[in-house]
Amino acid sequence: MSKTEVDIEEQSFLKEVTSHLPLDWSDERRDAYIQHVLISWRQHREHSREEQRLMEKYLSTIQQHFKPQSSELYDFNQWPINENLLAMLNRDSIDSDIVKQIESSGAYTFSFLPTTFCQLLINEIAYFEQWCIDNGLKLYRPNSMNKYGVILDHFGFEKCLTDIVTNIVQPLTRLIYKHITLPLDSHHGFIVEYAMDKDKKLDFHVDDAAVTLNLCLGEEFTGGQLYFGGIRCSSHTSTTPPKHDEEIYLEHQVGTACLHLGNHRHRALPITSGRRLNLILWCRSSNFDDERKKNGNNECPTWCGFHQMKIEENV
Ligand SMILES: [Zn+2]
Repeated sequence: MSKTEVDIEEQSFLKEVTSHLPLDWSDERRDAYIQHVLISWRQHREHSREEQRLMEKYLSTIQQHFKPQSSELYDFNQWPINENLLAMLNRDSIDSDIVKQIESSGAYTFSFLPTTFCQLLINEIAYFEQWCIDNGLKLYRPNSMNKYGVILDHFGFEKCLTDIVTNIVQPLTRLIYKHITLPLDSHHGFIVEYAMDKDKKLDFHVDDAAVTLNLCLGEEFTGGQLYFGGIRCSSHTSTTPPKHDEEIYLEHQVGTACLHLGNHRHRALPITSGRRLNLILWCRSSNFDDERKKNGNNECPTWCGFHQMKIEENV
């Protein structure tokens, strides 16, 4: 970044801070306060830039030196996606024998990939993790909650996952979740791993996504069910407990995917034996995010479970 750009960044920060200071402060008090925030702001900025530099170095090392073990896995056109699902998407209508809603929860499951292909993906992930160890690279983990697993977009899967969003998740979203404004124009794709000596469970949360695709890859395990506890808008994510009929448990099956709203609260129950890997694809829509920002999170939308409870109470 050039000196001029830095100055502009700093100036706009100062302008923002100054505009919020109480009018009755003396000049000395204002100056002292501004000096104080400016120092910590500069430290924070330097820290973020360092993180950014490390990330860029990590990604460029992978891009230059990592050679896939099975390169066909990185090509969406070579993914053996369930024929019935593809035929249904061609017809552009939901067949409830193919894409099944879990009770009336708003979460859906469908056969997605053969178990043999899922195992190939697991092998490729293990190969990448080992490559990182061999090359002294510290892996970036998927998110703040998962300490194991990898980010697929970091080592060659970005295009393939974009194709999955465009060809599978987006058409399904158009048919199922009509309130989501399309297109789904960005994603975060990663693998989560649960085992007795690693992460065992994941606490109750919502995803940073409009829609999430969650595919079980394997291997052998018991426990680890996916628990759902109601769809909530951002105002009601942590305030209203699930109603009895919002509580849903899903047993993972290798090769089967679950599609749910990012705002559908969920947790992964503890694994009780073995090892479980799931491919998670958070799909985002900048249009949908902008609409929610404009709304200022003030108005509870009709798709929020709390909104529906209010309607039921008034009937
Ligand atoms: Zn709400």
